[in-house]
Amino acid sequence: MNSLKGDPKNHPVAEFEHGMTGTCLCGSIRVTINDPELFTGRRGHLCHCSNCRKAAGSFVSANLITDEEKVEIQDTAGTLKTYNDYDTSSGNPVFRSFCSVDGNPIKSVTPLSPGKVILKMGIFPRIPEPEMEGFVMHKHPWEADLKGTVKYKFARGGEKLEE
Ligand SMILES: [Zn+2]
Ligand SMILES: [Zn+2]
Repeated sequence: MNSLKGDPKNHPVAEFEHGMTGTCLCGSIRVTINDPELFTGRRGHLCHCSNCRKAAGSFVSANLITDEEKVEIQDTAGTLKTYNDYDTSSGNPVFRSFCSVDGNPIKSVTPLSPGKVILKMGIFPRIPEPEMEGFVMHKHPWEADLKGTVKYKFARGGEKLEE
């Protein structure tokens, strides 16, 4: 595989017909999603909750919730650390793992979703077009509306925003 960095448009989706690998900035953590369906439709969600914003260092976090068994995480230099986040907007604890060298968010796990892992998509060469958005009521007024996403006012699976 070529470099995992650069312009996402230089990584045609055909490159990921079996799955996709991403790395943190220092390269010690490699995450592989073994899923041929990754780019066959909309996948993943954006979360606008304030904890995700903090963890992502951005106005939104790009997440993909998927089956744990489809994900391989190689922590080659033992830099993966976990922050146990109990003070969440939804009230459910979220165990947030990140690279302790460069601070890149890697994954979250919550007891709400057993057998699932929430991958933080920023480390991947290309992010699928999102399917859903959570905590849309917590968006900044300057954020553009995304077309075609399922929009939840707060937690995913809760009340939807009427468009
Ligand atoms: Zn790293
Ligand atoms: Zn969130």
